[in-house]
Amino acid sequence: MTSPHDLFIDGQWRPAADGRRFPVHDPADGSELAQFAAATEADCLAAVDAAADALASWSATPPRQRSELLRACFDLLTEEREQLAALIVAENGKAYADAIGEAAYATEFFRWFAEEAVRIGGDFRLSPSGDKTIVVRRDPIGVAVLVTPWNFPAAMATRKIAPALAAGCSVVLKPASQTPLTAAYVVDVLRRVGVPAGVVNLVTPVPAGPAVSAMLHHPAVRKLSFTGSTEVGRVLLHEAADQVVSSSMELGGNAPFVVLPGADVEAAVEGAMVAKMRNGGSACTAANRFYVHDSLVDEFSTRITTAMKAVTMGPGADHSNDLGALVSPEERDKVAGLVDRAVAEGANLTLGGGGQPSGGAFYPPTVLTDVKHGTEINQTEIFGPVAAIVAFSDVDEAVAMANDTIYGLIAYVYGDPAQALSVAQRIDAGMVAVNRGVLSDPAAPFGGTKQSGLGREGSSEGILEFLEEKYIGIEV
Ligand code: NAP
Repeated sequence: MTSPHDLFIDGQWRPAADGRRFPVHDPADGSELAQFAAATEADCLAAVDAAADALASWSATPPRQRSELLRACFDLLTEEREQLAALIVAENGKAYADAIGEAAYATEFFRWFAEEAVRIGGDFRLSPSGDKTIVVRRDPIGVAVLVTPWNFPAAMATRKIAPALAAGCSVVLKPASQTPLTAAYVVDVLRRVGVPAGVVNLVTPVPAGPAVSAMLHHPAVRKLSFTGSTEVGRVLLHEAADQVVSSSMELGGNAPFVVLPGADVEAAVEGAMVAKMRNGGSACTAANRFYVHDSLVDEFSTRITTAMKAVTMGPGADHSNDLGALVSPEERDKVAGLVDRAVAEGANLTLGGGGQPSGGAFYPPTVLTDVKHGTEINQTEIFGPVAAIVAFSDVDEAVAMANDTIYGLIAYVYGDPAQALSVAQRIDAGMVAVNRGVLSDPAAPFGGTKQSGLGREGSSEGILEFLEEKYIGIEV
């Protein structure tokens, strides 16, 4: 399990210009895994320069060649997915099953976009007045800055790098400072398969703000693709405005999970466990608010408490554990604070809560019933293994509560398929899962409405974020 600990600029792994480094920790025990290079602002701008220099030849590289390089990444990462999963476990803390699942998901973006690289379309038609031929091309937008979070350190990087490269863009990746090792491994795979120097660069400035701002003010940068919190997304939209940099935003969520009257409770709990516990609850797609009809809420609460009790918690290095550590002690304390305040506000703790059994950043599976709509835990992205259950009596009320949030990333609905579909259509979210607990699929458009984001990743839409349309009018 080795991964570079340096910056990757213009095809070379190299230390920061001033030699500064920052520690990367294993959240399961707090031990130090590595000292990673802390990029200076000059390093970040050098990475943009390298990407700008590489752009013309990469965008002119035949789509088939770009496609084959991406396919080679898929093949190599498929062979090495155990190594990738081990790195994810080590620096992120998640359970092995989640890490190997992420490795497969992350790898799939290379295969999907290898296939999309050779299918970039355009348009060709006669104008309505018959005076000209309208030709619409789709060209690479230019140098892209990609900023990613710690919760899916491989998949959030590949979901951006693969479409960008497929489109013919060159990139500078800025991964989260808590999880740079996984990103460095992925970038090194791109190097190993022969992606030319400068096409992919990796920088890790600490703190991130000033250096990312400097990159967004570099005249060569034409694209920002960000995944992370809504709070930081807002800051970056302001930063991107100065040079009118096209921005795609995958931001926070507050997913409702609605169990309609007449739903199959056993199936709903099975789906709820996946929607809640995938990635230990540290997912933008995690079910955050359970709205369960009065007639089913007792049975649902009892069953989910039983299912949560059966979850085994411990270091992801022990592959038998279902639930790993949160990414840091600060993240664990944030979750603990939310639960404690929810109980103080009148919620009933039926399982879990409290502490830290083993010294790492662990937080146990937790169930809260009698949660009130509108309370802090109901309106905040929990990002941990906590199921907070609200009862409802009327379907219109459930839809209104589901929509009563600034977020609109994803929602889950369980019930009779016709009723569930009609409720799904009334929920304001970019994605709705009907009678299933997981939706993410490289072949489907991922993204949110409202303050959960702008644009889509994956699917055939994902590559459009890195392409710009050019209209050429030809005299008939
Ligand atoms: P975050 O704090 O917003 O950080 C995300 C990235 O932005 C990191 O690389 C971070 O760098 C960087 N960053 C922080 N402050 C910055 C600034 N002022 N300027 C430029 N870059 C800055 O988010 P996180 O805690 O890593 O991730 C959790 C959040 O991501 C949750 O809200 C989750 O819902 C969201 N998320 C959304 C999706 C989606 O697809 N919609 C997917 C996954 C996660 P440092 O690490 O160096 O601070």
